[in-house]
Amino acid sequence: MAKHKVTLIPGDGTGPDVTRAARIVIDAANAGIEWEVVEAGEAVIDQYGTPLPEHVLESIRRNRVALKGPLTTPVGKGFRSVNVALRKELDLYANLRPAKSLPNVKTRYEDVDILLVRENTEDVYAGIEHMVGKDAAESIKIITRFGCDRIVRFAFELARKEGRHKVTAVHKANIMKCTDGLFLDVAREIAREYPEITFEDRIVDACSMKLVQNPGDFDVLVMPNLYGDILSDLCAGLIGGLGVAPGANIGDQIALFEPVHGSAPKYTGMDKVNPLATILSGVLMLKHLGENEAAARVARAVEAVLTEGKTLTYDLGGSAKSSEMARAIADKL
Ligand code: NAD
Repeated sequence: MAKHKVTLIPGDGTGPDVTRAARIVIDAANAGIEWEVVEAGEAVIDQYGTPLPEHVLESIRRNRVALKGPLTTPVGKGFRSVNVALRKELDLYANLRPAKSLPNVKTRYEDVDILLVRENTEDVYAGIEHMVGKDAAESIKIITRFGCDRIVRFAFELARKEGRHKVTAVHKANIMKCTDGLFLDVAREIAREYPEITFEDRIVDACSMKLVQNPGDFDVLVMPNLYGDILSDLCAGLIGGLGVAPGANIGDQIALFEPVHGSAPKYTGMDKVNPLATILSGVLMLKHLGENEAAARVARAVEAVLTEGKTLTYDLGGSAKSSEMARAIADKL
């Protein structure tokens, strides 16, 4: 019997391939998920006049949990990013991007285990900018106490729930004394409420170097939007790239899970790209739904297939299709 109704957005490009693969695995985990499939993105623009029709938002608001394939941001057609629009419309203020080393995925490090928390609604990333005449442009960076408070609290609560020991606030408060200064002040205040968790802060440039030199130094990272955008890809690089990097956008009521990667349009319909980023986003989703046992089983099945090394997609050195890798994982469940 279905215990959880979840909105599924297949997405553009390779989205349908990776979400189909995730469904194969999650269904095999028997966690009582019923999918409500709704289409968004390029494919529906002609039909609805928008890549994000109202009934898609309604479905997510009703079910409160969604799994989404990547959506293409059409270039030069005047649409803003559907992904950014979804985060804003649903107030999904926390972007969680875990970076954890996986067996048999060759990288420079074997022991990366970082939870990166990115603020998802403010900062220059909100794109509030305009031309000043034709030879200058201005962008406005807005950081609020409210926005800082809820993202830093999210990071500490996550650290507590996951038994993590340290939270690092990443900023550039030495230069942006008002905006990043406010973020840092709030982070320091909130840290006092969590005495069992070590708190430190790092300037974003120095933090980038340290992440590359010694990722084992980091545990939970929390930062404003733009730094999070950049450092989360850096962290994805530490664990094997976009094919294996999951993500979640979380608000107080609603959570939307999606791979970090985009629609990789050149592989559309080829059933070829790595489905792990979406499957691991599904693991985050199962945990969010309280299906911890199913989440752990899927994570173990993924590790087993990686360790065996027989059914891997091209980016991991194999030649399996997305769906073949998904079935191999499902068979382990
Ligand atoms: P992309 O992530 O789609 O692809 C870049 C390259 O990374 C691909 O060509 C491929 O070589 C590799 N790659 C990506 N996903 C992979 C996977 N699962 N397995 C193996 N290799 C993989 O980035 P892009 O080409 O810059 O963006 C394409 C479109 O996706 C754009 O329209 C962009 O706006 C959109 N996008 C959407 C999201 C989202 O939906 N959240 C995120 C990023 C980009």
